[in-house]
Amino acid sequence: MKKSFLPLGKFSFGMGDRFGHQGKAQLQACVMAAELGADFIPVWNKSHREHTFVGTEPSSLRSEADDAVRAIGWKKPYHVDADHIRLETVDRFITPSDFFTLDVADSIGMPAGPDIVMAFVERHPELVGTVTIPHIDRPFEISAAEVERVANKFLLAVQEAGRIYRHVAGIKGGENFVTEVSMDETDSPQTPPELLIILAAIADEGIPIQTIAPKFTGRFNKGVDYVGDLVQFEQEFNEDLAVIAFAINQYGLPPSLKLSVHSGSDKFSIYEPMRRALIKFDAGVHIKTAGTTWLEELIGLAEAGGDGLEIAKEIYAYSIGHVDEFCAPYASVIDIDKTRLPSAEEVNVWTSDQFVSALRHDPKNQQFNASLRQLLHVSFKVAAKFGDRYLNALKKHEAIIAKNVTGNLFERHMRPLLLGK
Ligand SMILES: [Zn+2]
Repeated sequence: MKKSFLPLGKFSFGMGDRFGHQGKAQLQACVMAAELGADFIPVWNKSHREHTFVGTEPSSLRSEADDAVRAIGWKKPYHVDADHIRLETVDRFITPSDFFTLDVADSIGMPAGPDIVMAFVERHPELVGTVTIPHIDRPFEISAAEVERVANKFLLAVQEAGRIYRHVAGIKGGENFVTEVSMDETDSPQTPPELLIILAAIADEGIPIQTIAPKFTGRFNKGVDYVGDLVQFEQEFNEDLAVIAFAINQYGLPPSLKLSVHSGSDKFSIYEPMRRALIKFDAGVHIKTAGTTWLEELIGLAEAGGDGLEIAKEIYAYSIGHVDEFCAPYASVIDIDKTRLPSAEEVNVWTSDQFVSALRHDPKNQQFNASLRQLLHVSFKVAAKFGDRYLNALKKHEAIIAKNVTGNLFERHMRPLLLGK
């Protein structure tokens, strides 16, 4: 497959910013990492859903990124990611974005035509039988029936990705953007053999994919640590890296192809296993984060005290009054213990320190409350409702918020991922 594409750097960091005020503070984290030799290419991401909730246009993210880059004097590449877009939502993203995350999860499990599936199986005899992949101890044993099953489950989704890719490439030119395919927002994780078959199909479809976001084993809850079997995760992550290296050669996919880890913020316990694996394979990775920055805004406001703390308390009071409504859309990506949620009355008498300790993601702090943190993570619509009052508070307390935003991304994410603790 020879297709032009905009090459993506080895390590890249996706940063969502719901309210559009933290671009500089986020970029500052990349500057600090680069000073220590960890080069993360910044990617600002925002999905159709987030734009809709907050009431912003995709072009605002482009302005934010350009402004941040200019203000900080960033000389390396950077990108603007149309996150989780589909054919029906992509159009207003095409001009301002140069990174497209094609979300085809909805088509997973919908069968492609039987002749298309059979043609795929016939085209890929190398996928059937004993498939030996360097650095995977036990070769995959894949039957023709298994290839057929996986093709049935994923071919339609891959074809859908092809339609979106060609639509964007037809307008923008393939050489002007990065393509990611995301399959994370679905029920069951994709196994490494499934990933191999999916990559073969993506190559057939002619998509110059540079990042793929599978659903990994375990729970990737919003804004809190990974929940799952660490040994199993590490093995799966290593095998995925081996599969990607193999597929690049076998199918002529872009050499920069790498994994993308969605809901990648705050997953402290898997960063060290990931770091080991990335070193072992000399592989890159894309980490996608979003809501962790909005939580740092709240922490900064609470830390500022006075009217900042007041706003943070009001947002909590509103959220606790709408727990079920706010949590319902995120049921599969949060685990809130309602008995651990303090009442609005309790929080209303908290000091700055109490609020910050409950919310800041420091698992060693006895006061840290993962349920409260997850609730506030999914409650950003409250701040959107506050409108200018919230945005003015962000401006007024910019310095203390920026310190938290930068520190969170650099100390808790970039440093452990590339440099180790
Ligand atoms: Zn995702």
